[in-house]
Amino acid sequence: MTTSENFAFATNAARGGRPLEATGPVVAPLDTATTYARATDYSPFEGRIYSRDHNPTVERAEIALNVLEGGQGSLLFASGMAAASAVLHALHPGDRICMPRVMYWSLRNWIVRFAEHWGLGIDLFDADEPGSLERALVAGQSKLLWIEPLLNPTWDVIDIAAAAAAAHDAGARLVVDATAASPALCRPLDHGADIVMHSATKYLNGHSDLLAGALTTGSDDDFWHSIRDYRVNGGAVLGAFEAWLLLRGMQTVHLRVERASQNAQRIAEHFIEHPGLNAVLYPGLMSHPGFDVAKRQMRGGFGGMLSLRVRGGFDAALAVARNVRLFVRATSLGGVESLIEHRASIEGPNSPIPDDLLRLSIGIEDADDLIADLEQALAAMR
Ligand SMILES: *Cc1c(COP(=O)(O)O)cnc(C)c1O
Repeated sequence: MTTSENFAFATNAARGGRPLEATGPVVAPLDTATTYARATDYSPFEGRIYSRDHNPTVERAEIALNVLEGGQGSLLFASGMAAASAVLHALHPGDRICMPRVMYWSLRNWIVRFAEHWGLGIDLFDADEPGSLERALVAGQSKLLWIEPLLNPTWDVIDIAAAAAAAHDAGARLVVDATAASPALCRPLDHGADIVMHSATKYLNGHSDLLAGALTTGSDDDFWHSIRDYRVNGGAVLGAFEAWLLLRGMQTVHLRVERASQNAQRIAEHFIEHPGLNAVLYPGLMSHPGFDVAKRQMRGGFGGMLSLRVRGGFDAALAVARNVRLFVRATSLGGVESLIEHRASIEGPNSPIPDDLLRLSIGIEDADDLIADLEQALAAMR
């Protein structure tokens, strides 16, 4: 199997990371065998023994992703949370994790609970406060800096290169959850990150029909080996069918993300001064405090995620979510269909998210239809 990084992202994506393969089936076969026969001398054929360690369809998808990320190796997992858990399990009791106060809520809460159980220290920083990240790192003790370049759901921007420098100064690794950007817009390894994580459930697959997680490493070191060991023996591997669907999804990631970004940009610009809103949170707006950093570390767009802060607080925001006709009221993100969600209701009483905030995952529908839907939902408020 041949892979190449000399091609553009779109070429590598469209060809599933194997643009030079000239013969054989044009699409990867779905290989469902769990176990592999041995030869009469008892050696395994092609080195494969059992599918928890070696499934060819999963390996194909890992190679495709690794090419898109420009990495030294990718691993797929049963979900994004399983991928994150594999990183956490590579830490040792006494190590410290540094992470933002506001980030993807389920993972933030899981890291806090896991840290208590595993004897890890936690240091939180405020991404919108200059110097907060650097101050939160404890030199010699922080082993992991966990960031999202686009913080869910405020879409504050973290400078990956600056975070990598700070982490490395303190003796920590930088892991970047780049789910909301996708490799089509941002490749954290190019900016100095050590490992990039994705909920492949979102943009990488893009069709809201499978759960998967992914890690890609910038170096094939001991930390990566212990993650790989945990993947095989912890057992949260991806099924062959999911890997096969994911391969298909990844072939159009650049087209879907480009269209979602264009739609989101139009929606953000349209609603920026709307009388029914207190704010439009989108890094593609020049007024957004993270615009310059986002422009530097993303290419071809600012992503399909944005949030609206509705004038009138909790009740008004919830009413807008009830009034939409085209947007689907649902959690998750990164699919071809546009979703709307009232985050504070989902996150519960300890949520740091303002209760006037609606999170929108913009899909690939017609932008005018999406704008008209939000307009009528907001008009019904006044
Ligand atoms: C969805 C999501 C996760 C968790 O991934 P699952 O595939 O749902 O387990 C982690 N980080 C971010 C930013 C996400 O959006």
